[in-house]
Amino acid sequence: MFAAIEAGPFSMSSIKRVLVTGGAGFLGAHLCERMVEQGHDVICLDNFFTSQKTNVAHLLARSNFDLIRHDITHPIFLEVDEVYNLACPAAPGHYQYNPIKTMKTSVLGAIHVLGLAKRCHAKVLQASTSEVYGDPEVHPQKEDYRGAVNPVSPRACYDEGKRAAETLFADYHRQNQIDVRIVRIFNTYGPGMHPFDGRVVSNFIRQALVGEDITIFGNGKQTRSFCYRNDLVEGIIRMMHGPSGFIGPVNLGNPDEYTIRELAEVIVELTGSKSQLVERPLPVDDPARRRPDITLAGEKLGWQPTISLRDGLAKTIEWFRSIRLEEFRAPTPNY
Ligand code: NAD
Ligand code: UDP
Repeated sequence: MFAAIEAGPFSMSSIKRVLVTGGAGFLGAHLCERMVEQGHDVICLDNFFTSQKTNVAHLLARSNFDLIRHDITHPIFLEVDEVYNLACPAAPGHYQYNPIKTMKTSVLGAIHVLGLAKRCHAKVLQASTSEVYGDPEVHPQKEDYRGAVNPVSPRACYDEGKRAAETLFADYHRQNQIDVRIVRIFNTYGPGMHPFDGRVVSNFIRQALVGEDITIFGNGKQTRSFCYRNDLVEGIIRMMHGPSGFIGPVNLGNPDEYTIRELAEVIVELTGSKSQLVERPLPVDDPARRRPDITLAGEKLGWQPTISLRDGLAKTIEWFRSIRLEEFRAPTPNY
């Protein structure tokens, strides 16, 4: 019998083999940083569709970090204890660029990580999305709201792909007793966002800093609720280690709701930009309102966001000022 050996802040028995699919992306890279810092044995798997190796280059020298270039639409055989399944393009312009591939990534990706978890007896967490609620008729959105998704919309490859993935997670749990966890992530922003991902926060900050027009889609009265990256990743980790038998889904997001025009105005103020706000056509089926009800996350995980929009934007703007745009490859022309 081996007793657990204390090694610094860790006992050896607490070190896990952790797979993060989509680990080089915006949220994945920060999750990998957190896992590496905690001393876990981390495998980052990514095909670099919407990210690049440089996002995790600072982790490559760490002996508890491995990077695998792999596409999750193909099976993978690894021995791990926990899987965070984040692999999927998340920005509308990128997931609509090759919608069939997006659906394959969600559905085949889910099947492959669930199969891996079944073989290894691993825990597996799915990064689902507020998009499963579609253009919601209920406000704010609670987990028991079933959503209003148009299955033939240009957004459906993502929305329905993520819904199907949730179904697979629930069924692997019921049929095979896999320990699954489902989080529904609402709009998240922060340092490390791809400057050409086409999402609203990255677009507005980039446009404000280079003095381009700030492109408001529609009249800017649609709302979103923006969560800072570190808060969100903390919520994901808490869900992985949350109460036994609590598989979710659980909403993770910041309930402070803003119109898109208000967001643009705050970013102009914080950057001191001279950029003009201009209106552009509203994309098809763009949700009109979105705000998470996070009561369940509070009750089950003791989680709530801690960073205000202004503070989070200030940190994000500082990071955008520190990067060189020419070092980033635009994943698709849609930004
Ligand atoms: P991201 O685009 O920065 O990261 C996704 C990562 O997955 C990228 O590194 C990409 O290269 C990789 N990837 C895509 N397809 C892949 C494939 N077939 N095989 C392997 N890797 C693949 O996006 P993000 O914001 O970091 O989102 C991470 C996850 O969280 C996604 O699943 C997304 O749907 C979910 N999510 C994010 C938000 C948000 O606001 N950031 C909101 C809701 C849900
Ligand atoms: N949006 C915008 N200008 C942009 C990018 C996005 O007005 O340059 C709007 C978009 O139409 C949506 C909101 O901002 O109403 C959030 O868009 P994003 O792509 O960030 O995420 P979504 O929540 O739509 O998936």
